[in-house]
Amino acid sequence: MKIAFKKLSSQPLHFEVNRDNAFFSGDLILIKSNLAQLNGTITGSISIPCDLCAEEVEKSLNEEIAFYLSDGIYEGFEEEMDVVEIDHSILDMEELLRSEIELVKSDYFCCKNCEGTSLDREF
Ligand SMILES: [Zn+2]
Repeated sequence: MKIAFKKLSSQPLHFEVNRDNAFFSGDLILIKSNLAQLNGTITGSISIPCDLCAEEVEKSLNEEIAFYLSDGIYEGFEEEMDVVEIDHSILDMEELLRSEIELVKSDYFCCKNCEGTSLDREF
């Protein structure tokens, strides 16, 4: 699902995309001429390797997602904001979902078999 930035307005635009078993839905609202806000949730599940034994496990997702999208380079650094700059004025929702899934995957994760093992480790 691709959305042209110029289609966004102050009326929330609903989107829904999925990737494998992950489901991403939410709303896009234009807040400035080149800045939009995304509020959404990611549900479903992803297959993720355990950090300890590398076994792929299905992890259920329930992530609240909120960030800003800038059409081109974002230059207003007056506020602490999580801003994603988009290319060619097109929002690629699958790509956004893919990068959110990568973020989840980069978090520490261990499977049920390994749970507790790391707690015994001394650092
Ligand atoms: Zn494991």
